[in-house]
Amino acid sequence: MVKFLFDLTFASLSHIFGILARYSFKERNHKEMSNKMLAAMKTKPSAGAELAVIDIPKPKPDEVLIKVKAASICGTDKHIYTWDKWSQGRIKPPMVFGHECCGEVVEIGSFVKGIKVGDYISAETHVPCGHCYQCRTGDMHVCRNVSILGVDRNGIFAEYAVVPEICCWKNDSSLSVEIASIQEPFGNATYTVMESNVSAKKIAIIGDGPIAAFACGVAHAVGAARIYNLGMIEFNLEICRKMGADISINVTQEKNYRERILEETDGGVDIVLDMAGNKAAVHDGFAILRRMGTFTAFGIAPAPFEFDMAESVVFKGAKIIGISGRKMFETWYQLRNLLDTGKVDPRPVITHRFPFKDFIKAMDLATSHKIPSSKIVLIME
Ligand SMILES: [Zn+2]
Ligand SMILES: [Zn+2]
Repeated sequence: MVKFLFDLTFASLSHIFGILARYSFKERNHKEMSNKMLAAMKTKPSAGAELAVIDIPKPKPDEVLIKVKAASICGTDKHIYTWDKWSQGRIKPPMVFGHECCGEVVEIGSFVKGIKVGDYISAETHVPCGHCYQCRTGDMHVCRNVSILGVDRNGIFAEYAVVPEICCWKNDSSLSVEIASIQEPFGNATYTVMESNVSAKKIAIIGDGPIAAFACGVAHAVGAARIYNLGMIEFNLEICRKMGADISINVTQEKNYRERILEETDGGVDIVLDMAGNKAAVHDGFAILRRMGTFTAFGIAPAPFEFDMAESVVFKGAKIIGISGRKMFETWYQLRNLLDTGKVDPRPVITHRFPFKDFIKAMDLATSHKIPSSKIVLIME
């Protein structure tokens, strides 16, 4: 009995202490956090990143402040996280990285006219200058002075982020936050496909990452006759099949795939969409492209490489189209139409979701070569 009483008293005391401790922690947190936020930062010029508490940024007159609702991890973020050659030359720590996001506008700058507090937006990540030749002739996505969110300026892997008004894309309130956050890479795929005129054509999509998978979905929706998908990872090829690829080829397992495609298409595919960009992918792409065909280049090679221009392009009469970003904002209207009408369902590409506090776990998965993943989305609340 004595022991029971002792246990009871001890239990209630610790319970009360627990409540007191939690209460004071909450109070302190609220005071300290009112102008502070959690952000994923690149603090040093080396591999990795850390979650840090920093000041909530103030929007400039032509910017808005958003409370980030979801953010997705891009190939660019993996480069920055692993601190590869490209990042070493481009990224200047300390900075907040990340660029694919959606959020609610909580404050607007004094010049902002078209966006109001409460709007639910996604961000176009190419910030144009508005004054150069390209900006003034309808090509602001390739602005000469472009600055990219989370690359050249602070990004959105944070509880709050500033976005220039020109880069805000208003979403319908019914759009889920995870789909709203992947519209930017979905837009890369949409732009690549729509520039290539794939309707009723036999095409090849090279690559099996998220943007290649989105491209399979868009090409299927806009009427490509047959889609060959060349990739290296079975898990990803399966996602591309779900999205709309008709024939998937694992180039690490099948030997004579070039010959097979040339034979089946009677001389090559009409269009190649290269979402991989490396030397092998480019060589494959031109090898399976028919004469007078179109090669649309989106992927980026890690380093320059040798290429036979005469054989691949000149004698073939090939057309090459380069794709950077998304057309502002023609591509965004097109992608909205594809998503709104259900012509493309991007959900099979989203393979993992993490709460923002598990950012490092999410990045480790994204950069893991052992565990397969496609699009990874961070949910902020
Ligand atoms: Zn991206
Ligand atoms: Zn410009």
